[in-house]
Amino acid sequence: MPVQNRFAEFADELTEWRRDIHRHPEIRFEENRTAAFVAERLQAFGCDEVVTGFAKTGVVAVIKGRETGSGRTLGFRADMDALPITEATGLDYASENAGKMHACGHDGHTTMLLGAAKYLAETRNFDGTIVLIFQPAEEGGGGARLMLEEGLVDTFGIDEFYGMHNWPGIEAGQFAVLEGPLMSAAGGFSITVKGKGGHGAMPHMSVDTSLAASNIVLALQSIVARNVNPLRSAVISICGMRSDTDTYNVIPDTVELKGTLRFFDKDVGKLMLERMEAVVSNTAAAYGAVATIDHLDGGVGPTVNDVQAAGHAAVAARAVTGQEPVVIDPVMPAEDFSEMLEAKPGCYVFIGNGPSADLHNPHYNFNDEILPVGASWFATMAETRMSLK
Ligand SMILES: [Zn+2]
Ligand SMILES: [Zn+2]
Repeated sequence: MPVQNRFAEFADELTEWRRDIHRHPEIRFEENRTAAFVAERLQAFGCDEVVTGFAKTGVVAVIKGRETGSGRTLGFRADMDALPITEATGLDYASENAGKMHACGHDGHTTMLLGAAKYLAETRNFDGTIVLIFQPAEEGGGGARLMLEEGLVDTFGIDEFYGMHNWPGIEAGQFAVLEGPLMSAAGGFSITVKGKGGHGAMPHMSVDTSLAASNIVLALQSIVARNVNPLRSAVISICGMRSDTDTYNVIPDTVELKGTLRFFDKDVGKLMLERMEAVVSNTAAAYGAVATIDHLDGGVGPTVNDVQAAGHAAVAARAVTGQEPVVIDPVMPAEDFSEMLEAKPGCYVFIGNGPSADLHNPHYNFNDEILPVGASWFATMAETRMSLK
């Protein structure tokens, strides 16, 4: 795997950091140890500024280039949080925090950006300013939104945002760089179906919420199949179904459904929400039941890469690997880096994790071989996007 020689030199150190963070996973807004680990190193590298406690447990650092005449400031972002999953890898550096695990590779993302920080603070071969953003609470915690609300863009004068996620199934150390939509929007919802419980043997005396809820599950798929333009992408998945009875002869009074919406275009999202209201309430009414929808807070928009920024990201990827970025389709998982890309143009790229278990799987592990490659990409982004004259 071709990497800058300087990064090959500290590959062992990067692996050590990554495994240390992996061993001590912390979930949303609890990243105290991880933030301290990051801040301690950023200070040791000699960053010009290290701010802790930004968006609760976030860390932001500034490195000025040898020149700053370009006036340009790039924000490089890594996420630090783990997931509430029990690790099943059996690794000797597996999670020591019961029920918590770095199953999305944010331990690797944090390490790659730390590696880039070490190199950039030492070499400073760029004309402008780099802001290193170690974000808390990416996994459904609204960490990116909180950082923006606390003034991330204006405080540090960020012009463009860049970030990276590892991706199982792409060859280890290869980059995928897409122009336009990369990851979908996501919104969670719950539907409460109310009827009239009763004896399972006397359905005519009840309003059967099981039957109404089952038909709602089916009818919701007609939105994707019949309302959304077939040339656009959309997903509605019902992932949870729970009734207030747990026996074989009682018709439930209430059934709750939980699910997720995914889409790339905001107008598709708006259409899906409108149709959901009509489909859910009218289907329930057809069975004599009443249904209401609650949309969860913390939904995120689609991750859309700026065309020019994607061009800069691809230049850096080619410089690091000596190869063209791989071609992939956009994916339906969502990412709250989307919020940063709504605030300023930028690009989110994927780096191949090789044939590993999938993200969010208890057997998943970040591939240490790609640490120097990802760190190289951040460093090369600084040096090529803001090259010294
Ligand atoms: Zn994740
Ligand atoms: Zn992730």
